Amino acid sequence: MTSLTYRQLKTILEKTYSKSDLVLIEKAYKFADKAHEGQMRASGVTYIEHCLHTAKNLAELKLPTPIIIAGLLHDVPEDTQTPLSAIKKEFGAEIAKMVEGITKLSNIKYRGIDRYVENLRKMFIAMAQDIRVILIKFADRLHNLQTLYALPADKQKRIALETLEIYTPIANRLGIGELQGRLEDAAFKYAYPDEYIKIEQIIKKNLPQKQKALEIMIKKVKSQLDKEGIKYYNIYGRTKHYYSFYRKYLKYNKDISQIYDLIAMRIIANSVSDCYAALGIIHNIWKPIAGRIKDHIAQPKPNGYQSLHTAVFGENKEIIEIQIRTKEMHEQAEFGIAAHWNYKESGNKTTDKNIQWVNDLATWIKKIKDNDALLEGAKIDIFQNRIFVFTPRGDVIDLPDGATPVDFAYHIHSDIGNKCTQAIINNQQVALDHKLKNGDIIQIVTDKNRKGPNPEWLKFVKTRTARQHIETFKNKNWKKFIPKFTK
Ligand code: MN
Repeated sequence: MTSLTYRQLKTILEKTYSKSDLVLIEKAYKFADKAHEGQMRASGVTYIEHCLHTAKNLAELKLPTPIIIAGLLHDVPEDTQTPLSAIKKEFGAEIAKMVEGITKLSNIKYRGIDRYVENLRKMFIAMAQDIRVILIKFADRLHNLQTLYALPADKQKRIALETLEIYTPIANRLGIGELQGRLEDAAFKYAYPDEYIKIEQIIKKNLPQKQKALEIMIKKVKSQLDKEGIKYYNIYGRTKHYYSFYRKYLKYNKDISQIYDLIAMRIIANSVSDCYAALGIIHNIWKPIAGRIKDHIAQPKPNGYQSLHTAVFGENKEIIEIQIRTKEMHEQAEFGIAAHWNYKESGNKTTDKNIQWVNDLATWIKKIKDNDALLEGAKIDIFQNRIFVFTPRGDVIDLPDGATPVDFAYHIHSDIGNKCTQAIINNQQVALDHKLKNGDIIQIVTDKNRKGPNPEWLKFVKTRTARQHIETFKNKNWKKFIPKFTK
């Protein structure tokens, strides 16, 4: 990790923050520096450097001054003799409240999957109160990961896994793509070292030829857009984050020929209509691959992500993905919820939509917190691809995307799962492997004489609960047929 002094941080801050803001930030730096005086980190550098890095990570998201200040002060009450009341006195209640939030969060320790539910709940309650606290926590965690080499192996692994299981799914849900990618890559190395090396080798082997093709393609696109009079803000190549690549690698059963976006061309256009115009121009130059054109502008992802995606047979027969979006969409993709606090766009303004969204999420977490089995099965995927369906009495049931009536039945009760014979959705009978959709009203018909689940159901169930019940039943019955041996 490169060292960082306040003078260096200041050079970065000066690009975004005003002189009067810098005065306040410097005051916080001096306060933290004094409080942490003489303290060293396990990595052998002074403690204040960790605070400076945290502030730098936040400044890169262009977050407002109070967040930068809280970032500098974040470890003061926890790790020094200076109390929270002193921060409140010097910097006011708002900043003190944020620092208090981080201090509370730092008491969360990963103690395996059984503690996971509780951890998650605390994170979300803290977040619902103030998302800025979570952002500071992420910035803090990123630097901790970047200095993990100084810690013993078991601690490295624990912190890395905790990051991938708790932090980054939340970053994803908040749409903070850039920070999520950085956190994941920093953790990946320690969580799955062998896989990390493997992915690094694959990327290094495949990148150069793709980069070469991409360079030629960017030139062609620029000249064609100019010719057609379509204005753009920027066109550049982006390389996929390692962990994100690893996830796709697993998804496509380690067949890298299926992964088209190791490198991608990004076009930041001036308007939505320019995005579609650019897409047309690209398809005019290179042949698009069928089924890979995705209009996330018309249909944004659940976390707000918007872009047009296509993959084309590009130069030198390389398949290249192209992502087209406006500047606003780009900022949403990189900064997500943080984009709404963007420093230059005025203070701490958040849209009602965002606040509503956070409240919904917090309510949801509180609701499912009582159902450990559901959470356990969901684990990493917890915030993605969920569907909400109804019981005939109107209770909301939350299931993973692709779940079937059998998953629903087991979710209600294991006995209903074991004895289910028919499913009726919105008054129509459907097959038991039917994929449920958001808003479906589901009625399960059971047969009390039924002996148990059909092992064939294992081919389509999506939840761990269902799988476990079916497997347990299958194994139990199978054992009955094992001949008993006598000596
Ligand atoms: Mn810290």
